[in-house]
Amino acid sequence: MEINGLTRTCGLLGNPVEHTLSPAIHNTLAELTGINLTYLPFLVEKEKLGDAVQGARALHILGLNVTVPHKEKILPFLTAVDELAEKIGAVNTLVSTEDGYKGYNTDMPGLYRAMASDGISVEGEKILLLGAGGVARAVAVMLCDKAGQITILNRTVERAAAIAEEVNAYAGRRVATALALEQYTSLPDKDYLTIQATNVGMYPDTEKVLISDMDFYEKIRVGYDLIYNPGETRFMRQVKAAGGEAYNGLKMLLYQGIIAFELWNDCKITEEQAAVVYRKLLNGL
Ligand code: NAP
Repeated sequence: MEINGLTRTCGLLGNPVEHTLSPAIHNTLAELTGINLTYLPFLVEKEKLGDAVQGARALHILGLNVTVPHKEKILPFLTAVDELAEKIGAVNTLVSTEDGYKGYNTDMPGLYRAMASDGISVEGEKILLLGAGGVARAVAVMLCDKAGQITILNRTVERAAAIAEEVNAYAGRRVATALALEQYTSLPDKDYLTIQATNVGMYPDTEKVLISDMDFYEKIRVGYDLIYNPGETRFMRQVKAAGGEAYNGLKMLLYQGIIAFELWNDCKITEEQAAVVYRKLLNGL
């Protein structure tokens, strides 16, 4: 793509940003759609976050992604926040509007679209959510209206309980319950859709797994690990060994990027274009 006087800039605010795959997603989408846009990583220290947003605004940056550690702390610097992002309490995408940047959360719609593309429906499902960090909380918020039940398992059970209480209030029904990690033996069912939302097993600690007991994996019908590096985690291997289906988080990453690109450019990315970007990400890992 030729950069010229009409090229618009988008980018990522984070710290660190060296290993991000987002430039590969957005620059490939720009090429595929012919949209005159370039995407860059911007390293931003937390005390400079407000300056970065103001500077981006002054430079007419079209849109930004936001990653660790800024997803929550950026909220006060925005002029508006989308309803889902507000509920989740974190944004990963900023869209330029007349008055300033509006914040969105495309991580969760990204996960939803990734699951749909893998043929996985969450409607009425029994969901087992492993973890109670920022991402697990967002998953619970997104699924609380759709899932049949959500059981949240976490090392620090108080964090799981706080999320369960919050999403039950949102849903207006007792959809979520919390369990301490070691209570997995008491899970009554055998066909959970399990979302692995902890960082256990992530590169370079690829031999780690949250629960190693194979009896646990007998209870899992589908295992969705939000980690994408390595491409196959030990959690996924154990799900498969017990006869279940297993997926990684690369498609979630892909679709959160696609949804951001669609918001910035008011366009629709086709599944064929998504597949091209996905292959590029696979090659890059
Ligand atoms: P976070 O807020 O730091 O939460 C980490 C979670 O992992 C907590 O539930 C924590 O339990 C648990 N945990 C960490 N180390 C543990 C250990 N040794 N034993 C047991 N539990 C442990 O992290 P996050 O931001 O939610 O991110 C979670 C994962 O999502 C990461 O792996 C990240 O790669 C992935 N992710 C994927 C995408 C994607 O696009 N695919 C996007 C964002 C994030 P405690 O509460 O007990 O500490």
